[in-house]
Amino acid sequence: MINLSCTKIKNQILSEINEWLESCGQSRPPIDLLRLAGARKVSDIRREKLGQHGILIPTPDGFVLKLDSRISRARQRAIFAHELAHTFFYDISSSPPSKIWSLTISAKQEEQWCDEFAGEILMPTKALEKVIAENGLPGMKTFVRMLDEFDVSPEFAAWRLPQTDKWPLIIVHLRKRETERKLENGIASSWKWRIFKPSFLKKKSLAISAWSCPEKLPSPVQCYYEAGDIVVEEEWRLGGKRQTFVVECKRLAGSVPQVIAIFHSLESEAREHVLKPPAHRML
Ligand SMILES: [Zn+2]
Repeated sequence: MINLSCTKIKNQILSEINEWLESCGQSRPPIDLLRLAGARKVSDIRREKLGQHGILIPTPDGFVLKLDSRISRARQRAIFAHELAHTFFYDISSSPPSKIWSLTISAKQEEQWCDEFAGEILMPTKALEKVIAENGLPGMKTFVRMLDEFDVSPEFAAWRLPQTDKWPLIIVHLRKRETERKLENGIASSWKWRIFKPSFLKKKSLAISAWSCPEKLPSPVQCYYEAGDIVVEEEWRLGGKRQTFVVECKRLAGSVPQVIAIFHSLESEAREHVLKPPAHRML
């Protein structure tokens, strides 16, 4: 057996994924997962009540892919892409497909990679770069257009976009909790949030202390939600340093109150990235 390092295996799978997207004519959004599935021998896709979000089951002919029918359509697409990524951990030329890499790659590692590969499948790097180049400077307008173009959920796009160096903004996805829960510091918050940062800001935390104190009204989140679509200039702490950010906020439609906040830093190294026009503009 060929002994490949983890990084080499990951890069090999990534290039196989890109070839697969190209050969199925799916390098442009929106990605048609059904067409991709056929080329990975996933012939049977079932939506039913499951105890988990999705599952891929090898059969003598290929795979059955099951999705939990109770989750939203956009979330189902993300799970669908994740399960398709699992097929790259099988030799699909054998019947039934046989597991490969399992001696080198742990199950946990495979899960993490499949999440990353799902990002590459639904929002391929090349397609993203093209859309970003066509739309100029990144911001809320482009973000919203991308949700439509790529047919992904706001949270998925918020997670995926900062992974590219071309989208050097901090994106925060906020969702109102369905049930009140206690946070670690003992303060109950009715909102939960995920912060997505580009790699060059990965180690710098964005101060969110004000958000976990709903009694200190008005909290930025509530302001953002109540105001709907707003652009505000605010001071936040990034990596312990006070900075001024332009924050673009958008209230999202849906059954659960959600807000997307995009932070444009006006200071720090982020400024250079944010204010630098895309390459094609400089031509
Ligand atoms: Zn999985």
